Amino acid sequence: MKLGIVGLPNVGKSTLFNSLTKAGAESANYPFCTIDPNVGIVTVPDERLKLLGDMYHSKKVTPAVIEFVDIAGLVKGASKGEGLGNQFLSNIREVDAIVHVVRCFEDPNVVHVDGTINPLRDIETINLELIFSDIEILERRIAKVGKQARMDKTAAKEAALLERVKALLEDGKLAMAFQPEDEDEEVIFASLNLLTAKPVIYAANVSEEDLADDGAQNAGVAEVRKYAAESGSEVFVICAQIEEEISELEDDEKEMFLEDLGLKESGLDKLVKASYHLLGLISFLTSGEDETRAWTIKIGTKAPQAAGKIHTDFERGFIKAEVVNYKDLLEQGSLAAAREKGLVRMEGKDYVVQDGDTILFRFNV
Ligand code: GDP
Repeated sequence: MKLGIVGLPNVGKSTLFNSLTKAGAESANYPFCTIDPNVGIVTVPDERLKLLGDMYHSKKVTPAVIEFVDIAGLVKGASKGEGLGNQFLSNIREVDAIVHVVRCFEDPNVVHVDGTINPLRDIETINLELIFSDIEILERRIAKVGKQARMDKTAAKEAALLERVKALLEDGKLAMAFQPEDEDEEVIFASLNLLTAKPVIYAANVSEEDLADDGAQNAGVAEVRKYAAESGSEVFVICAQIEEEISELEDDEKEMFLEDLGLKESGLDKLVKASYHLLGLISFLTSGEDETRAWTIKIGTKAPQAAGKIHTDFERGFIKAEVVNYKDLLEQGSLAAAREKGLVRMEGKDYVVQDGDTILFRFNV
């Protein structure tokens, strides 16, 4: 899973990115943490892993990861190629979801590119650039398909869809609002890979004071929440500056620091949860002496495809899955004991994998 961090200059993107990657780099030794200054790997916090790893005395515990890309430089006019606009837009095209950082904090020492703090205006400025970029893509596609449409029914159908999406965007709406009428349309629409069709998490960057009550007193945050609700997006409230401080602490210090601030979890935890929720993701687990590991899948994934996450051979040669809920497994203390109690199920190729399933796949090679 890859998330792109966007937002106007000076809203706190780099601060958030640095805090995320610092925290992520600490909790696991991912060698690719530092390959690119703008790409960071963050591990998904998951207390189930440690418990299972301890039970199996696993040599290695491997959490699921999320890749973050800091996409700076998105400014007004980016879609017209101003700044390094187009390059940034193409970076966004490669991500699964967008984290859109919005400045909701006042600080006279930090200049705002448009002079005043106005979260809704900022969101619209960025989204408009994304819309422009999508319209350009549609126009190019329309020029290509339009010619074939006179002779070819499939092309005619696509051309009609393209025009409908374009009209929506020209109306100032995001492509996310488009509703395909049938499965063919769904496929065509997905193939366009439009920027404004990507799921968005708005990160409302607030002051330290606004953090404790989750931005309830901040009018800007309320506006962001309303906008997000209307467009089917998630919001999470964060103070990037505090996150950066937290990321430099040891685990036990971290807990105390959060408690002092009246918080239950760090912004990183909130962000991971929000992205899992938004993208409809869950984790299943594999556990043994060599390794205990979490794997990310979409809700609704069936056993063979889940096995394919581990190795394509597992999917191709899939026979069955031995499934036990991680809680049952922990309670019983071993797979053999869980089996004896009848808590381990044999599931076939139509089994829909559930969050927290601990799975042993049986397959032919
Ligand atoms: P970017 O251009 O969006 O990447 O913004 P930066 O992360 O570089 O932040 C711009 C400035 O705002 C820096 O001086 C940060 O220290 C400051 N900043 C970032 N987050 C916060 C915050 O939550 N509160 C305050 N007061 N300042 C912040």
